[in-house]
Amino acid sequence: MPTLQEALKLDKDGIQALKNTLKEKIKASDLNAYVGALEDADTDLIPIAIKDNINVKGWEITCGSKILEGYIAPYNASVIENLKHKGFAPFGRTNMDEFAMGSTTASSCYGKTLNPRNKERVPGGSSGGSAAAVAGGIALAALGSDTGGSIRQPASFCGCVGLKPTYGRVSRYGLVAYSSSLDQIGPITQNVSDCALLFDAIAGYDRMDSTSANLESPSTFEDLNAKRKLKIAILPEFLKNADSSIQNAYQKTIDILSQNGHTIFEKQMLDTSYMIAAYYVICTAEASSNLARFDGVRYGKRAENLSNLKELYLKTRSQGFGDEVKRRILLGSFVLSSGYYDAYYIKAQKVRTLIARQYEEILQDCDVILSPVAPSVAFSFEACKTPLQMYLEDIYTIGVNLAGLPAISLPVDSDEGLPIGMQFIGKAFDEQTLLDIALHLENTLK
Ligand code: GLN
Repeated sequence: MPTLQEALKLDKDGIQALKNTLKEKIKASDLNAYVGALEDADTDLIPIAIKDNINVKGWEITCGSKILEGYIAPYNASVIENLKHKGFAPFGRTNMDEFAMGSTTASSCYGKTLNPRNKERVPGGSSGGSAAAVAGGIALAALGSDTGGSIRQPASFCGCVGLKPTYGRVSRYGLVAYSSSLDQIGPITQNVSDCALLFDAIAGYDRMDSTSANLESPSTFEDLNAKRKLKIAILPEFLKNADSSIQNAYQKTIDILSQNGHTIFEKQMLDTSYMIAAYYVICTAEASSNLARFDGVRYGKRAENLSNLKELYLKTRSQGFGDEVKRRILLGSFVLSSGYYDAYYIKAQKVRTLIARQYEEILQDCDVILSPVAPSVAFSFEACKTPLQMYLEDIYTIGVNLAGLPAISLPVDSDEGLPIGMQFIGKAFDEQTLLDIALHLENTLK
């Protein structure tokens, strides 16, 4: 597949030819990365794959859930409008964990997506379809969403580049809400320059999103500078839960960065178990509230043979939601219920503030923080992790969402053919520095 930069040089016929090749490749692929919308009228725009939770007018958008079967998006998300203004077009709906809850893409109602690097392994999640499509050569680039790592972890497992922008940088208008205070849309691409290009295309103020930051739109691609020498914080203690292959890759990355003139500082971070606890209280609380709207009345599918309204809610939701979504709705309702609200929800919000403060303190002394993306490489479908074991996989990604910061995941190494990603975490709204250092590291590793 050509890169985005290469595709931007194509004329109308070139883009049409590219789309035809893409369609044939997708048809021949067994990855199950796409779940629909592979026809498109915008023939002279460059095709971008879109996660199944971003509204594209006229597409069936389901969030990988049976409950939204048949729901046709009546409008475009702001990111889709932005893409179109920049010469890109939505093309292909990518698979995901149901309502973006998960780390494997296996909870989708369309079945699992395979990791193109090794089909016995998970592609990561929840944006696994987007990452597998890019890494598998059946998408030039894709959009994903990241609530607690869902762009960075699948990018890391599949070996591509993924950027979770600062909270407020990219409009969430038209993104189906999972956890509104954590969700953010971002690019998954073949390389860092494409990541900057696609980020610039989607980012910017949007009056339709009340949490959108009223700042000038970024021009990170034009301003890319791989020559900057940075102060980089590392978190050695943070790593005690990681596999040895990840620890080795971390050390290797540190050595390369230090040999190339960057200054490395050791820093300490709050115990990661607090992050997991705070994240899973807050995201389930918000999810239980956000998902209340799927009631069989307003969107998508409604259960049949109903005798009263209560049955309509009960049957529609029981049949429409999968196990993980139900688990989270229960957990979220519990932590918000009277008597437990202070003990869990309010406590988690306090911990969230502490976590944000810690990142802020570290980032006062340095430009970026280097951390692994996940404690292991892509695991096998048979690994059969319990829900709790699965939640613990998110230790390196969720702090960033709780603090609202930007982070970029980049492949740096591999273990038996499986990619290993590292992430740079930056100051709020300083995506430029992340892209600069990621480009520098990408060039150095070539
Ligand atoms: N794995 C995390 C979760 O299940 C992250 C998901 C996401 O970022 N959407 O919540």
